[in-house]
Amino acid sequence: MKIFCIGRNYAAHAKELGNDVPEEPVIFLKPKSALLPTGTLFHYPEFTNELHYECELVLRVSKNGRYISARQAATYYDAITVGIDFTARDIQQDLKTKGLPWEKAKAWDHSAVLGSWLPIESFADKPSILFSLQKDGQIVQQGDSSLMIYSFNRIVSEISNYFSLQIGDLIYTGTPAGVGEVVPGDMLEGFIGSDSLFKLEVK
Ligand code: ZN
Repeated sequence: MKIFCIGRNYAAHAKELGNDVPEEPVIFLKPKSALLPTGTLFHYPEFTNELHYECELVLRVSKNGRYISARQAATYYDAITVGIDFTARDIQQDLKTKGLPWEKAKAWDHSAVLGSWLPIESFADKPSILFSLQKDGQIVQQGDSSLMIYSFNRIVSEISNYFSLQIGDLIYTGTPAGVGEVVPGDMLEGFIGSDSLFKLEVK
């Protein structure tokens, strides 16, 4: 199983981190060990002093494929949820400044949080999917899939030009504006619409 992530897929988020809007999707990966297993406690990592949440819609790949056209792409995922692409922002800034890869900031154990799945067909006729993250009961991040620079289908197509997609792979589709810091004791809860799909305490 592979975990694909898309960077800078919302213009307002690219702007808040001082990045340009990309001319093609920014793709990076996390290893399988990055996934926080359901029911496992999340511990604040020792190597960072600036841990950020990035709340994102996540797709579940349901069919193997390569070189998938955007037109065909919708048949390659069957479920959606919200998750967190946890990021050690201090480490990422340092790596970016040095022009180095992001893995130490993004791909560490338990950096990928996943909510419960919803069938994608329940959103088939919806022009936008609204999602949000609450911290200690307050909304800290709100997203709308219609504001994505690259659509789900474009992302699937683009990834498949470089990597084979396999059943069970995950695609984190990018975070909207409003990323921010968490500290031990914070309680995070992710929603699509009013459905609570995960709840997580930072230990
Ligand atoms: Zn992200």
